[in-house]
Amino acid sequence: MDGDWRGLDLSNPTEEHSMLRSMVRDFALEELEPQALEHDRDERFNLALFRKLGEMGLLGLTVPPEYGGAGMDATSVVIVNEELSYSDPGFCLAFLAHDQLFVNNLARSGSAEQKERILPKVCSGEWIGCLGMSEPDYGTDVLGMQTTAEQNSDGSWVINGRKMWITNGILDEDGTPADVVWLYARTGTDDKGRAQLTTFLVERGTEGYSAGQKIHDKLGMRASTTAELVFEDCVVPPENVVGTPGESMIHLMRNLEHERIGLAAMSVGIARRCLNDMNNYASEREAFGKQIRDFGQIQRHIGESWSEYRAMRAYVYDTARQIDLSEAGHRLDSDGVKLFATTAAKNIADRAIQVMGGYGYVGEYVVERMWRDAKLLEIGGGTLESHQKNITKDLSRDPTVIGE
Ligand SMILES: Cc1cc2nc3c(=O)[nH]c(=O)nc-3n(C[C@H](O)[C@H](O)[C@H](O)COP(=O)(O)OP(=O)(O)OC[C@H]3O[C@@H](n4cnc5c(N)ncnc54)[C@H](O)[C@@H]3O)c2cc1C
Repeated sequence: MDGDWRGLDLSNPTEEHSMLRSMVRDFALEELEPQALEHDRDERFNLALFRKLGEMGLLGLTVPPEYGGAGMDATSVVIVNEELSYSDPGFCLAFLAHDQLFVNNLARSGSAEQKERILPKVCSGEWIGCLGMSEPDYGTDVLGMQTTAEQNSDGSWVINGRKMWITNGILDEDGTPADVVWLYARTGTDDKGRAQLTTFLVERGTEGYSAGQKIHDKLGMRASTTAELVFEDCVVPPENVVGTPGESMIHLMRNLEHERIGLAAMSVGIARRCLNDMNNYASEREAFGKQIRDFGQIQRHIGESWSEYRAMRAYVYDTARQIDLSEAGHRLDSDGVKLFATTAAKNIADRAIQVMGGYGYVGEYVVERMWRDAKLLEIGGGTLESHQKNITKDLSRDPTVIGE
């Protein structure tokens, strides 16, 4: 047989990937871990620590070096998300919203002028970005969005509407809105009645752009902020339109695929942490004169968690390997991997709590936070039901992929 294909490690395919993993793992254990419990409890985003990711070169992971990025690939994004989520999935969600929903989108679809002007600021962490897609009345049904933009005779655009659930939408306790928003608005309707979408870059300080309510009392992901954004007669210059007006569907589809793999990668980090902690605990804890790992029911929790963790890890890294960040067309597996990995992570976190008994139910032992954070992954970036719908649709269009 040709080649040394057995030597391929899907999760660390090159030396560069291994080095990235080891750098982020050290950062997570030394700097994220000690602050995670407190920021979850206080529902606060650690902006100062977030900016440190910029110094480490992580905020423009997939941005070409000429714009201040690291020029890496989808596998590198999966590695960073996994390692950050091992300690602090909430912090990682803020990273995902900035890196995968704003920065990578701009790097793939922005004009040379937009990239030169904005990418260095977001890659360094001077500016924090977010993505405004969902609305109070339109989530899964995204093409129903009601935020509109109309063009003035001088070429500028007037935006009106509200966006809901925006991660990084508010940056601090004073209600400071995100420095820059990747915003989808309706600029027309096609002959089938579907929205024609246009992407706008809305910068803080633009009149008519403000933060609405900060969403409090979330079940999980409390170390990231979630907010409503308000656009009231918000005038955006023509140079802040991305691509051709009315043709942003491609940005949206491509970015959702990328986001879904990123969210699945967070699930891998959560699963690894919970498996690790339940496995250690099962050796340390004794009941009825034995280690609890000697009980068959505990073995079932650990055994099932190990196999689900290994399966999700293989599926996530194999999907990332095939992703070209400049192209759409990976929907089947980006939906598939998120559908499987997110629920598996939640179930593994649930088993970890069960194995750890009363201690598992308490913040200090981490796994209850992982369980709360894991639940969001079944909703954000597409609900489980939307993945089921998409997969079934794609398999009816092309059933031959099942046999490939
Ligand atoms: C913490 C958090 C962070 C978020 N961050 C962002 C962000 O940064 N940017 C952003 O734009 N959005 C963000 N979101 C929004 C998120 O993507 C939406 O919540 C998600 O897409 C679901 O939309 P919805 O909440 O409106 O639920 P709905 O779409 O109203 O769904 C309600 C229920 O109906 C089901 N349903 C809907 N349509 C169908 C159908 N056709 N078939 C079967 N079932 C269906 C859903 O699966 C779900 O179970 C965030 C959400 C949260 C909670």
